[in-house]
Amino acid sequence: MKPDIRLAVLLLLTICVSLSLATAWQIWAARQHALAEVDTSNRNLAMALDTYAEGVITQSSMLLLGMAERLELDGTGPENLQRMQRLVQRQERLLDQLNGLVVLDALGNWLMSSTGPVPAGVNSGDRDYFIHHRDTPGIDIHIGPPIRSRSTGDWVITISRRFEDREGHFAGVIVVSLGIENFLRLFGKIDVGREGTISLVSTSGTLLVRYPYREEDVGRDFSTSANFSRYYKGARFGSAVFTSGLDGVKRIYSFRTNDRYPLVISVAVGHAEALLRWKLESLLALGVVLALQITLVGIGRRLILNIQRRINAEALLVSAREDLLRANGQLEVLASRDPLTGLANRRSFDERLTLECRRAGREEVSLSLLLIDIDYFKAFNDTYGHIAGDECLKEVGRQLRHCVKRPGDLVARYGGEEMAVILPGTDGVGALAVAQSLLQGIRQLRITHEGSPLGTLSASIGVTTLAGSEAPGRELELVRAADLALYRAKSAGRNRVEVETAHILMTTPQESSRQGEAEARVDHAG
Ligand code: GH3
Ligand code: MG
Ligand code: MG
Repeated sequence: MKPDIRLAVLLLLTICVSLSLATAWQIWAARQHALAEVDTSNRNLAMALDTYAEGVITQSSMLLLGMAERLELDGTGPENLQRMQRLVQRQERLLDQLNGLVVLDALGNWLMSSTGPVPAGVNSGDRDYFIHHRDTPGIDIHIGPPIRSRSTGDWVITISRRFEDREGHFAGVIVVSLGIENFLRLFGKIDVGREGTISLVSTSGTLLVRYPYREEDVGRDFSTSANFSRYYKGARFGSAVFTSGLDGVKRIYSFRTNDRYPLVISVAVGHAEALLRWKLESLLALGVVLALQITLVGIGRRLILNIQRRINAEALLVSAREDLLRANGQLEVLASRDPLTGLANRRSFDERLTLECRRAGREEVSLSLLLIDIDYFKAFNDTYGHIAGDECLKEVGRQLRHCVKRPGDLVARYGGEEMAVILPGTDGVGALAVAQSLLQGIRQLRITHEGSPLGTLSASIGVTTLAGSEAPGRELELVRAADLALYRAKSAGRNRVEVETAHILMTTPQESSRQGEAEARVDHAG
């Protein structure tokens, strides 16, 4: 992957991951907030209901206290009982939750009932509260488990108290019954949702009232329930999330144990219901973020594709440029080389000679030039044909290259069967030595040439040298002098080297018109 694409992918990943993390955090925080809100509201409700329950019990116990005092002072005579009945009936109107009040004698027989005349032979000696007071001295009130009222048949919670005779012996029990119905009516007015519950439980684990009401739940014993022992037992207040053993619904519970009475009030809201709004909002947020991410990824993908295309185009351009440069290089080689012999061509030779003349002047070193012409080459062609002639030229070219060793030297095909060698930094002596070695080199090829008196291929070489100070701009004179030398070599019988000094040809400005004629002759010789 290219750096640009890597960066784009990294950017995209960073944005997507940050967005996901931020959303996850937001959703988690919203969930905590929703749960905290429910918890606060549950706690407040539990507190209010606890106060309410405490008020009801306190009112009942005050009524019991008043009644017990009267009974202990005035006895259980019919007159006293009638007066008490009237009093209770008046108070009942002020106490909504009160279902009835019953006075029992020491054997559990009904002495008085606030709901009307006492039915004959009714006895409550078997009730828990009666047994409790009979067997437990003391004036504490007792909150009993829910029972069915023997007078009304309703489910009631009993608040009871013992009273004694003048000698301090157990004389009977006064019982106030609070209708569960009354509690349920109040609990029903409180909005705890469809899955919510409100319960009043004794600290010993007996369920007194539970909203919503189910007959089978009344009086249920939770003392051995794991949830009760874990969360409620011994704690003054708290919150917990657990699945109800009664109906299997998971709820958020807040509970409070009453400070004065052994009662626990618990308010619960369905866990799923409490989080429903959060869930919908989270789903919406997730949807929006997901859509955003899909859009981002889409845009990012296009961006990456564009970058990829750009990179590909750049790579193509670079490769095309390289191809072009290579082609240019090849063209340059082609343009500067003679295709038959592979030697530098005439154009190259001219450029290089000019350059070397200038350099010789600058560096004040001699510059030599050799012109080599194969002897009787026309006859060679005539004897062996042009193809053999071409092969012969190639071989001579190779041999010349082989004999000319210095990197700065240049072997060129001057034209036809004529070659030229530029020897920068070489004086006359050196140039003569090179020419001799070339002559020998060509002869050593031992190319049979029946058209030559020698019987083998030979060449004639014209040599000329210029001192550095004379060289700049004198390339024509140099060629012409070498040509003169070559001409002399031919005239002298070929297969030899002749030297000509370039001095004698150097022109003054007045002689420039004659120079033109000389150039024409040199070109003709090429
Ligand atoms: P001399 O000894 O005086 O130099 O005689 P010569 O025959 O070599 O010289 P001339 O100038 O009369 O002939 C040169 C010949 O070289 C003419 C031409 O057929 C031949 N020639 C020139 N260029 C080529 C070439 O590229 N290939 C072949 N095969 N022959 C060439
Ligand atoms: Mg020639
Ligand atoms: Mg020739």
